[in-house]
Amino acid sequence: EDYTIGREAVAAKRRRYFYPCTQHFYRNAPQIVQGEMQYLYDENGKKYTDFFAGVSVVACGHCNPAITSATIAQLQRLQHTTTIYLTQPNVDLAERLAEILPGNLRRSFFVNSGSEANEGAMLLARRHTGRKGFIALESGLHGRTNLTMSVTGLPMWRTDPYLDPDVRFIRRPYDPELGSEEAAARSLADLERVLAEHGDSIAAMIAEPIQGNGGMIMPHESYFREAAELLRRHGALLIFDEIQTGFGRTGRMFAMEHFGVVPDIVSMAKALGNGVPVAAFAASDEVAASLNSPSASTFGGNPVSAITALAVLDYMADQRLPERAERLGAKLKEGLAGLKERYPGLIRDVRGAGLMLGAELGGAEAGEAAELTDEVLERMKDRGFIIGKNGTGRNVLAFQPPLILAEADIQDMLKTLDSVLAELA
Ligand code: PMP
Repeated sequence: EDYTIGREAVAAKRRRYFYPCTQHFYRNAPQIVQGEMQYLYDENGKKYTDFFAGVSVVACGHCNPAITSATIAQLQRLQHTTTIYLTQPNVDLAERLAEILPGNLRRSFFVNSGSEANEGAMLLARRHTGRKGFIALESGLHGRTNLTMSVTGLPMWRTDPYLDPDVRFIRRPYDPELGSEEAAARSLADLERVLAEHGDSIAAMIAEPIQGNGGMIMPHESYFREAAELLRRHGALLIFDEIQTGFGRTGRMFAMEHFGVVPDIVSMAKALGNGVPVAAFAASDEVAASLNSPSASTFGGNPVSAITALAVLDYMADQRLPERAERLGAKLKEGLAGLKERYPGLIRDVRGAGLMLGAELGGAEAGEAAELTDEVLERMKDRGFIIGKNGTGRNVLAFQPPLILAEADIQDMLKTLDSVLAELA
């Protein structure tokens, strides 16, 4: 009933009523009308296996009844109040986050989106240190508000002409020409230099433990330990943006566990709500104490979002989704590495952790790799597989499926990708 106008009419309304900035990367974008665990369906009933999960959001699967039943029950019982009253779901959620977060990250502040969580984390860092400036990594992505866009290091997402000038970018710990240790050392040397010059004005460094939109960039395992030590020596904080990496995605509950580093503040969003908006930033008692003047979010920590997030965390624990991501991610990575062997001219690199993997495509000339990537995405979509893309050159195929998918889905996708690459080789 609701879906009778057809994809052409939907596309036309979008062109007419949305802002022109609204992009999609398919020539022929499907109209998605239904989701069921790892599958999506368009208005013609065509089935797609979702290897993108709305950029790492739907980790527990689309419309997973174990989660939606809790959401629906809460919607019918109590939708919204304010933090002026006591409600149980948000305090239970804060307690659960304290239990699963490493170290002493005990206190949570609830908001509604990743951008807002990072904005709050950065406000907290400024209040705690009494300093204004930030250090960020090139090709990082942190959000769409003025301050979070100011620390975003991907040029295509830096669209505000009046960004905060008090941000210093350092080179990311990755360079295709260098080994990961060398690239990490170069980035740490940048960090040391910036801290030596501006240390007493730096509130924090913000970083994704593994860069998502930057192209699945996983630093050397010692990188963040050394960075945290340098920051500590200069009285600056470390903020981890776990918005894309958090909640099982990389084969650990949080990606920070790969590096053995607990940050001063961590921001979380996306998979926490499995499609329902819920986000938070967490800190220790000591750091959180600096947010001591009135601050409140209308929808942050509302009962529906909080109950949903609790159901997500229950489901992840029951189904051991972080372990599943690690096990299935190894299969997917192995398959992609096999395709790299078969098509060395097309696949340049395979990287990432757990079910957050990227395959960088190559081309003889500039721009060719990005075009090739779009062609692969289009053909895979036509054959029933939704894949993402990211990277500084928009030439990295991004694989971040719901963590509940089956190994057979992975093998089917790899077989199809093999035939698409064969056509394009
Ligand atoms: N940080 C990271 C690492 C992200 O991937 C994103 C969204 N892609 C954001 C922040 C911003 O989150 P939101 O779109 O919910 O504001």
